[in-house]
Amino acid sequence: MRIVLLGAPGSGKGTQAQRLQARHGVPQVSSGDLLRDAVARGTELGLKAKAVMEAGQLVSDDIVLGLIRDRLSRPDAAKGFILDGFPRNRDQANALSALLNAIGQPLDAVLLLDVRRETLMQRLAGRRICPKCGTVYNVHSLNGVTTCARDGTELYQRPDDKEDVIAKRLEVYEKQTQPLIDHYSKLGLLRVVAGEGEFEAVFERMEAAALTKPVPAAAVRVSAAPVSTKKTVATKKKTVSTKTQPKKSRTAAKSAKRKATSKPAKRAVARKGARKVAAKRASTTAAPKKRSVKTASRSKSARRKK
Ligand SMILES: [Zn+2]
Repeated sequence: MRIVLLGAPGSGKGTQAQRLQARHGVPQVSSGDLLRDAVARGTELGLKAKAVMEAGQLVSDDIVLGLIRDRLSRPDAAKGFILDGFPRNRDQANALSALLNAIGQPLDAVLLLDVRRETLMQRLAGRRICPKCGTVYNVHSLNGVTTCARDGTELYQRPDDKEDVIAKRLEVYEKQTQPLIDHYSKLGLLRVVAGEGEFEAVFERMEAAALTKPVPAAAVRVSAAPVSTKKTVATKKKTVSTKTQPKKSRTAAKSAKRKATSKPAKRAVARKGARKVAAKRASTTAAPKKRSVKTASRSKSARRKK
């Protein structure tokens, strides 16, 4: 499971990543954590990063890529990784691909945890954090309680969780992420996961998306078979394809099942927007129908002329 995780602040990607990590034994690799850790431990790259940050500059991609490379070479990353916070732009995405190819661990998928903007605003503005243990709460579920359930410490709201700051953070996120979405979509790696609803349901969708691997072109038999005009070869090919059919339909049934289980929840989330879209679609599909009626009558009259 080698994945990059994309999701807005408040999308819940952090907790989902933790769950994936616990269930599948792949580490969550956050570029921010890597940097902080390297600086704290005073490693070579950490010292470099510290100097850059203290000069008020951004840490270069080379340093972050170096940290990622080191992290992925540790034994716990043998089964894969969940990359979070990197890449943030197309150049970084390309550099990351080059690195992952060089170490023989190319990406399986890029997951985009999709949550509506108003939901993100609500979640983030309601966030309260315990300064002692770091537990995150939401005012909507606290019912007036203002202290941590674990240690009784007074909870606080992070300054960047204030509404106007959130709006800006989301704007930055959208601007930053759109090019990545386009990039990974073109590469066939993007999986959009509906991120609203019950945690468990979202996790199931995340897991399914993380485990679905794109089939490499070389592994597809039909296109790999050499083209030939000889009859005997053609009949041979036919028998081969019927033999493999049961297997194919079984996997097709599996994916259909998966689709069927994930659809209702997605639908519930998209219902509001879907209504609008459906209305739009109805108005746009009506036009071509009229046209086809016209062309039909035109061809009738054309035939009559003949
Ligand atoms: Zn606490």
